[in-house]
Amino acid sequence: MAAFPADRVEQAAWICNARGQTLTPLRRRVFEIVLAADRPIGAYDVLDMLAAERGRVAPPTVYRSLDFLVGQGLVHKVLSVNGFVACSAAARPHDAQLFICGSCGSSVEVARQLRAGLIEEEAEALDFAIESVVLEVHGRCHACRLATAP
Ligand SMILES: [Zn+2]
Ligand SMILES: [Zn+2]
Repeated sequence: MAAFPADRVEQAAWICNARGQTLTPLRRRVFEIVLAADRPIGAYDVLDMLAAERGRVAPPTVYRSLDFLVGQGLVHKVLSVNGFVACSAAARPHDAQLFICGSCGSSVEVARQLRAGLIEEEAEALDFAIESVVLEVHGRCHACRLATAP
């Protein structure tokens, strides 16, 4: 198999390939749209952009593409704002840790494990089997705070 590519869309195709999955043209285009957005993008906005390019698009096909991308860890679902962001390190599946600005809507994903096993410890004490952990931190980003500084 070819070396891990530098381009993020090619990386997504590579990751799918390595898992025996296919980044179909529609999945690829949906990924490109999510990747190009500089903030979490809603499914309806993805639909609108596709419709502008291709005419009528059946919503379920777009939802299925988004589900596929989320399932492969290429895209994270941002529950608190009902949107999607491209993962910044999709080769290794993980739960997303996002800092989301309430003023401009931008989001930043951080790779370092911030929870340091505390949730896992509590889960073990409760004998609770974790399926996923959501960490979405809301606030205002540096640029927005600078813009409104006195
Ligand atoms: Zn990620
Ligand atoms: Zn901001």
